[in-house]
Amino acid sequence: MQFIDLKAQQQLIRQKIEDNIKTVLDHGRYIMGPEIGELEEKLAAYVGSKHAMGCASGTDALMLALLALEIGPGDAVFTSPFTFFATGEVIALLGATPIFVDIDPVSFNLDPALLAPAIKAVQERGDLEPKVIMPVDLFGLPADYDAINRIAAEHNLAVVEDAAQAMGGEYQGRMACALGKLGCTSFFPAKPLGGYGDGGMVFCDDDDLDRILRSLRVHGQGEDKYDNVRLGINGRLDTMQAAILLAKLELLPGEMKARQEVAQRYAELIAASGAALTAPTVPSGYASAWAQYSVLAESQAARGEFLERLKAAGIPSAIYYPKPLHLQTAFAYLGHQAGDFPHSESAGERIFSLPMHPYLATGDQEKIVAALAGK
Ligand SMILES: *Cc1c(COP(=O)(O)O)cnc(C)c1O
Repeated sequence: MQFIDLKAQQQLIRQKIEDNIKTVLDHGRYIMGPEIGELEEKLAAYVGSKHAMGCASGTDALMLALLALEIGPGDAVFTSPFTFFATGEVIALLGATPIFVDIDPVSFNLDPALLAPAIKAVQERGDLEPKVIMPVDLFGLPADYDAINRIAAEHNLAVVEDAAQAMGGEYQGRMACALGKLGCTSFFPAKPLGGYGDGGMVFCDDDDLDRILRSLRVHGQGEDKYDNVRLGINGRLDTMQAAILLAKLELLPGEMKARQEVAQRYAELIAASGAALTAPTVPSGYASAWAQYSVLAESQAARGEFLERLKAAGIPSAIYYPKPLHLQTAFAYLGHQAGDFPHSESAGERIFSLPMHPYLATGDQEKIVAALAGK
């Protein structure tokens, strides 16, 4: 059994992928070939955003978004501590200060009710200027953008959506990646829309931001190729990855449907099993992209037992994320301590993820839940 079965998916589109790769080998435009513009157009239409810009990774997508907003030293960026390291990393790499805001213990996403007090605390501190809110759509479930965007508007902050796990997710009739001022996603192979290597994309409706992003992607290039008008990075998406993603994109809507069915089946099986686990819930008006199916045990010790049972049955599992960002060594300089963000810490101690992909068979799900229940 696979945690994420990329082979099952490949079998369905192997020929199309080979054809698309062959087209790239024939035209030879490995850097910024026509597949990139084609993918950008199709994904902009899919998420309902005016612009989409391919880039080298989800991490670069986040960094380019912050660079486009001219975020740097002295700026405060509000984000969740319960996420993949890259979310906080890019903020700090640019010299800005990550201000962590604890999660809602049910959705695992940044709790909007804690945002206003966090903004006020930064204003009172006086040495940082609040600039950006960077919510994470964790495990594919969008954060609460109506509440977040309202607070952002009140305080004149920009919202950068970390939708690295959420391509295909939905919030109140809108698609993930298009829920803030800028949306960032990742094409890392294990994400809901993954390539066969690194890749990412930045979405926005703003013409000026899109123009700046495209310049930043190529070393801050100006109208004249050899006149660099700002400092940027080499952050391009490979033509080859775009060609592969074009083939995979055709499967995405069907895969999203299949993921909903797999998640629904897990919820039913777990409820019927009697295992002392909290299955994830999706509020009405939301759809998760189900990048991960993460459940909560009642304690760290109980989680250890569940993981042992899965291991004994030959079932792969993972822990996303055992250590919140505020307790990571790289962020020790921020001076946080255990207890600062209790919901993130508690989730880190009790959470674990089950195999999740669109091709997961009912029989395998039954085996997984039986193992969890100790049967
Ligand atoms: C994967 C991920 C990223 C980084 O994406 P890469 O393509 O691996 O650079 C950023 N944020 C979150 C929440 C992620 O899951």
